[in-house]
Amino acid sequence: MRKGILEELNKSSVTVTDIANQSWCEYKVFLSCTQKEGQTKAMRIGEAIHMNLQKEVYKELSVEPVNYPDVFYKNAYENIMTMKSVVENGKGRELKIEGDIDGFTIRGKIDELLVENGETIIVENKTTLKENGRHTDAMREMHSVQAMVYRMLFKDILEKRYTFKRYYDTNGVGRMKLSPQFIQGLKEIGIKDDMMNIGAICLSMFESYQQLPKISDTLMIRYLDRVSMEVVEEVRIKYDAQWLKNILDRDFLFWNKKKSPEPVPKEESWKCKSCYFLKIRKCSFGVSYLEQQS
Ligand code: SF4
Repeated sequence: MRKGILEELNKSSVTVTDIANQSWCEYKVFLSCTQKEGQTKAMRIGEAIHMNLQKEVYKELSVEPVNYPDVFYKNAYENIMTMKSVVENGKGRELKIEGDIDGFTIRGKIDELLVENGETIIVENKTTLKENGRHTDAMREMHSVQAMVYRMLFKDILEKRYTFKRYYDTNGVGRMKLSPQFIQGLKEIGIKDDMMNIGAICLSMFESYQQLPKISDTLMIRYLDRVSMEVVEEVRIKYDAQWLKNILDRDFLFWNKKKSPEPVPKEESWKCKSCYFLKIRKCSFGVSYLEQQS
């Protein structure tokens, strides 16, 4: 795994959200890695809506994890259930995904997989306020990057550029040991003996991905009203490999420590108004933009 700036930021991987957020403000990504960003009301509501959506089609493992390997097992089990739901019902939610970009481990969670006309569409659900109207181009770009990165990572798994072996080695699966309490819980819900170890469940997860109908070139960004949860807008975009490559080439200069994190340019200083780091006066760029305006 490439280290780049990760060690300094005390991170083990880059998240898909980090990459998407770089399109909004790279300096904000840097600040949120070094100091905890306070949760806004909108973020709390967004999280609750995601939880509700997840419950509609998500099959959670009922056994409580005790240690990290147990959690790892639970994630793989639930990913298999999500794949089963996509194949059987045409819809699955909250698929935890891992891959590689430029030697960095990338992790994220796909909001939804939806089968339409025999193809699987990757869907990003975003919460908004209906009265705010349509989304700005800057928001669209950020959401498009997120959906496209998920599609790229998922394709890498399906086409075996990111293999089970790579996943196994990156996460040290061979060294993981389930807790006795968790194993007992798995027995009680009828998990077979040959599925009682992390390597077997992870292999089964990789195999389950191959059952999925073909991944579509179309991606969907669905905007949901934060109050009523009704769909405000569904935007369909086409996967554009070259556009995404240009964005990633730019963004990974930061992760590879080839440049310092950049704040928003002056003409986009409107983004600072809603920024937590300006509110707590931790961003000197935002403060200076504000002073110039007053
Ligand atoms: S205040 Fe502006 S420049 Fe600073 S982190 Fe926030 S959005 Fe970026």
